[in-house]
Amino acid sequence: MRIDIITLFPEMCEAFLSESIIGRARKKGVVEFACHQLRNYAFDKHRRVDDTTYGGGMGMLMKAEPIALCFEDICRQLDKKPHFIYMSPKGRTLTQQRVRELAQLDNLVILCGHYEGVDQRVLDEYVDEEISIGDYVLTGGELPALVLADSVSRMIPEVLSDDLCFEEESHYNSLLEYPQYTKPFEWHGKQVPEVLMSGHHANIEKWRRERSLEETARLRPDMLKTAALTEKEKQFIRDYLEKLKK
Ligand code: SAM
Repeated sequence: MRIDIITLFPEMCEAFLSESIIGRARKKGVVEFACHQLRNYAFDKHRRVDDTTYGGGMGMLMKAEPIALCFEDICRQLDKKPHFIYMSPKGRTLTQQRVRELAQLDNLVILCGHYEGVDQRVLDEYVDEEISIGDYVLTGGELPALVLADSVSRMIPEVLSDDLCFEEESHYNSLLEYPQYTKPFEWHGKQVPEVLMSGHHANIEKWRRERSLEETARLRPDMLKTAALTEKEKQFIRDYLEKLKK
């Protein structure tokens, strides 16, 4: 997969995308990133990427033309029109389900807004989808774009050391992950649950599944509506919630 990011701050994105798991996947060639400096596409007299808003109001807005030229240049490089996403607090909130769907695509182009946002006309003409990372407002789209790029990239085969490890993670199956422990066995007087030391795989799986059901019922009961649960598991959750009330 290749992800193109259109931004006024490519160094900010490059710094993140060159480190840790994503940086290693990039070096291996499993996932490709290209960060485009939007200023290189500002060709008017003053090479401006932003201007004041019509109708008055505080702050500057990103101009349509440089964004259109940059996106068209990416389309030429790729020889196709890739899925174009604008990171915006007005967009649909990102979910693990949408992340999984986007990870199936070969290409994504992500636009980072700044200042007051972006001229509506370029969004109407070019953008396929607006995505928000939550109901709050940040100063720019770079962090949201990186959240999207990171979450999508780790779904791509060979990015994680074990491709199956995300299947037990929070949100993958509408459940939260079970609690986990590492060495030492005892820390601040608290010991690791005995079953995890037993080497008995079936018991460990059962313990993890039950803790996962409990964590979800306690912290995010809304998620249980879409989780695939057996009748026995539904009863287990009811009993657990009854116990909590006492
Ligand atoms: N005036 C805009 C509004 O009220 O909807 C907010 C603009 S915000 C200050 C600047 C840029 O940050 C946006 O264009 C967007 O790219 C990005 N941004 C801010 N919060 C975001 C969020 N929750 N999710 C995704 N992008 C966000």
